[in-house]
Amino acid sequence: MADGFDVVVIGAGPGGYVAAIRAAQLGMTVACVDKRAAPGGTCLNIGCIPSKALLQSSERFAAVQHELAAHGVKVAGVTLDLKTMLARKDKVVADNTRGVEFLFRKNKVEYVKGAARLAARDRVAVALNSGGQRELSAKKAVILATGSDSANLPGIAIDEKRIVSSTGALALDAVPRQLIVVGGGYIGLEMGSVWRRLGSEVTVVEFLDRITPGMDDELSTALQRSLERQGFKFRLGTKVVEAKAGKNGVALALAPAKGGGSREDLAADVVLIAVGRVPHTADLGLKEAGVALDDKGRIKVDGRFATSVPGIYAIGDAIAGPMLAHKASEEGVVLVETLAGRQSTLDYDAVPAVIYTWPEVASVGKTEEQLKHAGTAYKTGKFPFSANARARANGFTEGFVKILADAKTDRVLGVHIVGPDAGTMIAEAALAMEFAASAEDIARTMHAHPTLEEAVKEAALAVDGHPIHI
Ligand code: FAD
Ligand code: NAD
Repeated sequence: MADGFDVVVIGAGPGGYVAAIRAAQLGMTVACVDKRAAPGGTCLNIGCIPSKALLQSSERFAAVQHELAAHGVKVAGVTLDLKTMLARKDKVVADNTRGVEFLFRKNKVEYVKGAARLAARDRVAVALNSGGQRELSAKKAVILATGSDSANLPGIAIDEKRIVSSTGALALDAVPRQLIVVGGGYIGLEMGSVWRRLGSEVTVVEFLDRITPGMDDELSTALQRSLERQGFKFRLGTKVVEAKAGKNGVALALAPAKGGGSREDLAADVVLIAVGRVPHTADLGLKEAGVALDDKGRIKVDGRFATSVPGIYAIGDAIAGPMLAHKASEEGVVLVETLAGRQSTLDYDAVPAVIYTWPEVASVGKTEEQLKHAGTAYKTGKFPFSANARARANGFTEGFVKILADAKTDRVLGVHIVGPDAGTMIAEAALAMEFAASAEDIARTMHAHPTLEEAVKEAALAVDGHPIHI
């Protein structure tokens, strides 16, 4: 086994494994190192994929109970088999991680299982999971794709049973009666949805006075209303000051986020801490190698993903930007294509973001608040799913599509969707933005009938003030 490669990638998450495969496609010799038992990083093992498997299963469970009767489908005696649901989720994960191992073999990427550390700017020392050491050298580049870990709150001990991170929340062996979710962001709302649908009473404690910070305000408000109708309770502007796990549950204390006010004691069976993620940069030898971090502890890179040390690059959750799998993957592709001498870029204004709740929320481009803040003159077109024929036929009419376009040029600046399948529909908007489309371009594009996507076309028509179906 040769230990000299063109590229050594540390981390086999969606950033690292995609970079490794693309580099191999471009003719480079590549090793990809990861210390987990299986490749795929956070996303495949404990993130995107298991959470979506449980969202899908719990959505089915909720639909059978609450939706099918309206379609004339009567189902009696619905019960939950949580063990099977969790086993299915584990199988989905295993099938996906095996898929990455297959792709590594197919593309002749050498997959090395072990903990990597920078030994020099062009050398990586690996403590192999199977025991022993191996040193890999990199002629062209070492790529740091080490991802992120769950953030915690000071003084709160996560035991992954009673006080859990997303990882524990993906594997609870019983449905908690009371689930308190700390953090009203992606993870809190997605995992809160899973357990709410399976029967938990869910209270979300959010520090800010709104959920999903960073999303367009109108989307956040619509999502919160919809989740409240599903039984979620929200405690906004509130912080957790104490959480202690005991034999029968967790004792919590809440206080107003702004300070002052009195402390409120609460009890829960399980508390999910979902207050963000922090870049994973420990035990990598970054300091010794001279790799600089920014003020938030992320690996500092320039516009071409180069760190402060020549020959060492970084991508994904470990650097600045949205902590999203597709962003990590695209960075990996752009980086290795650039290393191969190709012109390759990525447009950070066209990174779609989706929260896979019901309804889903999906965004790409600028929010209305960002445009106002920047003083950009814009036009708005909005279309509700209640006026979309397919949404009516499907029986899900909540939500809307909102398109923001430049007031002068009509160029699409942002698209925000809350509604059924918003996460799928946002792809059209991302493509439009990638091509610098105008709202009129979308409006004049023929959309098949009857589809939910017609709401995107109608919102684009509404930018110019003449939607047809409302
Ligand atoms: P990671 O996926 O974190 O991979 C980094 C890898 O590096 C890890 O496997 C780690 O073991 C390895 N590593 C670190 N240090 C070393 C070392 N020294 N030696 C060897 N290996 C090392 N994003 C989405 O876009 N869509 C979603 O639906 C979504 N859902 C999510 C749900 C949850 C519950 C969570 C937690 C996250 C979710 N995310 C989602 C975020 C997504 O998982 C991350 O943005 C993505 O995984 C980042 O990819 P990455 O390659 O940068 O890092
Ligand atoms: P998040 O940043 O989405 O949300 C964290 C929330 O916690 C915020 O609303 C924040 O205001 C709040 N918060 C922070 N400190 C708090 C405190 N002390 N008390 C109460 N609330 C507090 O983070 P997350 O939900 O942990 O997810 C981490 C990241 O993982 C996301 O930002 C996203 O990038 C990624 N992710 C993506 C998806 C997806 O794409 N569907 C799903 C899950 C996770």
